[in-house]
Amino acid sequence: MASTYREAVSAASATGRGEDAAPAVPPRTLADAVEVLAGRRVAVLTGAGISTDSGIPDYRGPGSPPRRPMTYQQFVGDPAFRRTYWARNHVGWRHVHRTNPNAGHLALARLEARGVVGGLVTQNVDRLHLLAGSRRVVELHGSYADVVCLGCGARIGRAELAERLEALIPGFAEAHDVPDVEIAPDADAVLSATAGFVVADCARCGGVLKPDITYFGEQVPRERVAAAYAVVDEAEALLVAGSSLTVLSGRRFVTHAARAGRPVVIVNRGATRSDHLATVKLDAGTSEALAALEAAL
Ligand SMILES: [Zn+2]
Repeated sequence: MASTYREAVSAASATGRGEDAAPAVPPRTLADAVEVLAGRRVAVLTGAGISTDSGIPDYRGPGSPPRRPMTYQQFVGDPAFRRTYWARNHVGWRHVHRTNPNAGHLALARLEARGVVGGLVTQNVDRLHLLAGSRRVVELHGSYADVVCLGCGARIGRAELAERLEALIPGFAEAHDVPDVEIAPDADAVLSATAGFVVADCARCGGVLKPDITYFGEQVPRERVAAAYAVVDEAEALLVAGSSLTVLSGRRFVTHAARAGRPVVIVNRGATRSDHLATVKLDAGTSEALAALEAAL
């Protein structure tokens, strides 16, 4: 395994194209993954793919509908867009709030309790790792459950904001919360009509409230990035679960671990942008694969 990994790295440096080098083909079986991870302290990086079995769809997984997530610039720059966004979020966040961790989240929490996993970095905002019992969790892109004021920095819980919105627009959520409402990973529901919705501003300064979620076009706060690097650097191997590593904010940790000479195991359905850096790549669902890894490690 290690030799294949080194070959992949040397192939990458030989072409001078770094992480965009032509993909090598890493080993692909569970036994390969166990051999790499056994006896090593493991850092974990997770993405939307680990939560699909909890009923939260993935933007980028195989078969996911084409859908453009909102950008930070749209949210900040356009009051009408913001109103539509909050109307959808007001319905959508309840769905995320009702979801439960699945076998993949639970396996990672138990591996942490046993000292195998040292910490976890997630690109998800669904809180499911914390619900599953993981303790050292860096929520790289924030959480759907928190709201922040862009004016004064005040933070409130999403549940508290829901109460304020209910008082402003009684019955809106119930009227739009149909059973087949489409939900996106950022707790956004797709609504056809958002007329009648009223946006709540910060109770302290009147500023614009935003879910504490890092949107496309927005920087991840520096201290969060540092905390994530610390999780990766304190470990001897990196396990990626349920991410296609499309977004640089997550992919950089894989590049970082590989450059530091640490083995990388990737569990994901479909190709990822960092398959060529993987010591082992399992093309598998995370619920089954992580439960199997837990049993074997
Ligand atoms: Zn404020």
